[in-house]
Amino acid sequence: MAVVANPLQIAVIGSGPAGIYAAEALLKQGGPDIKVDVLDRLPTPYGLVRYGVAPDHKSIKSIAKYLQRVLESPGVRFIGCVELGKDITSADLLDCYDAVIYCTGAMVDRQLGIPGEDLPGSVAATDFVNWYCGHPDATGLEFDLSVDEAAVIGVGNVAVDVVRILAKTADELRESDAPEYVIEALADSKIRRIHMIGRRGPAQAKFTTKELRELGELENAAVSVRPEDMELDPASAALEESDRHVRGNLKVLRGWAALEPDDRPRRLDVRFWLRPVEIRGDGRVEELRLERTALNDDGRVTGTGSYEVLPAGMVLRSVGYKSVPLPGVPFDERRYVVPNDAGRIIDPDGAPVPGEYVAGWIKRGPTGVVGTNKSDAAETVRSLLADLPAGRPHEGKSIDGLLEERGVACVTYTGWLGIDAAEIALAEKLGRGERVKLAGWDAMRAVWGA
Ligand SMILES: Cc1cc2nc3c(=O)[nH]c(=O)nc-3n(C[C@H](O)[C@H](O)[C@H](O)COP(=O)(O)OP(=O)(O)OC[C@H]3O[C@@H](n4cnc5c(N)ncnc54)[C@H](O)[C@@H]3O)c2cc1C
Repeated sequence: MAVVANPLQIAVIGSGPAGIYAAEALLKQGGPDIKVDVLDRLPTPYGLVRYGVAPDHKSIKSIAKYLQRVLESPGVRFIGCVELGKDITSADLLDCYDAVIYCTGAMVDRQLGIPGEDLPGSVAATDFVNWYCGHPDATGLEFDLSVDEAAVIGVGNVAVDVVRILAKTADELRESDAPEYVIEALADSKIRRIHMIGRRGPAQAKFTTKELRELGELENAAVSVRPEDMELDPASAALEESDRHVRGNLKVLRGWAALEPDDRPRRLDVRFWLRPVEIRGDGRVEELRLERTALNDDGRVTGTGSYEVLPAGMVLRSVGYKSVPLPGVPFDERRYVVPNDAGRIIDPDGAPVPGEYVAGWIKRGPTGVVGTNKSDAAETVRSLLADLPAGRPHEGKSIDGLLEERGVACVTYTGWLGIDAAEIALAEKLGRGERVKLAGWDAMRAVWGA
């Protein structure tokens, strides 16, 4: 017989910023009796704050301390190592809870769709980010940093992160939480020149000025921009006029265009108006063929028919992220998000799906900063509580019983605290900063005792 649980019990799937901000909003808006389980496929909480934000961005990583307070609030439980689609289904969740909020993010890379993209040495930025952040799924990934030149395709903040990590010395990252294998690989890196390549012009680039400026502060790499790339067409000049972020970026880039190259060991060339058309090489990446571009009258980018070839032993693509569909949950295959109205999941007929909600990148796509997910999650929770002030009739099953029945070896918050303590102890042992990430599933399992 269907029953309504009392107090309200909500499942949040994904313990990244969106999931934890959703839990916080449920406590704030739903009152003290509400119970929130935050489930994640990983044994560790914080999503991309832990496994996306670059290791040298310590102040942003410290948002984890705020998120930790939410996870430790009365009424909130973290349950790690439970994967929706593998260990549990959305139907299971609807049997156990009054409502579910999916917050599974968007960490799959978009492809360039050009010949040679599958050659060894052609790399998705998502894999490289997972590697330098020590994501357990990156165990076994190796990147050949013995090459002379690398090209990073994309001019967003993730591309800037990737360039910065490639350009820094191992010593510059020693105080960060990057796993030891990253420090060792970067210490042996032979990369001398990095090209960062944008399909459109400097006024259309997606990076933010604060992130961009950091490239000019690198100890080990001198930045160069071609003055001819900085000549603005009328559409770009209008953007500069109207958008203060564009003005900020152009000011920084013009400053670099006016500099003489110096003798720092590495060089970073920021290039615009080039689109990759082919990655070439004999058995592995050796060069990148690019076509010069321009904006047409509609403001869209077109090829000019003029080509250049860059030597590059490594090509990293960072041209956007997308979410993956969740089994049993509607998905917009064009926008790569779950269709929703203020967080309420909408079925293909346009009707809200009872009890199912979304927040974060899977709701709105990969945009904004960590804090953007706070107001986004609060909106979803407002919708949920307006729809279900007293819950939704459901089977009243216990998630703990169900996971035990299925033999799912989940990790409790205490298990995560064990990993946390082991990482702090490892940093002390190695004489490296506040924390060094444990590398790989086995190292983490050894600590939580699975
Ligand atoms: C490389 C990179 C660097 C960034 N750097 C910055 C920065 O410096 N500053 C800044 O403000 N923002 C930064 N961002 C943006 C910021 O990380 C995002 O805004 C934010 O993490 C999105 O939150 P989310 O909770 O939607 O997704 P995520 O943080 O991705 O969290 C999703 C969670 O869901 C879990 N999950 C996924 N699928 C399942 C499943 N099937 N079952 C169970 N759990 C699942 C994942 O393990 C993960 O923990 C960066 C993003 C990237 C990609």
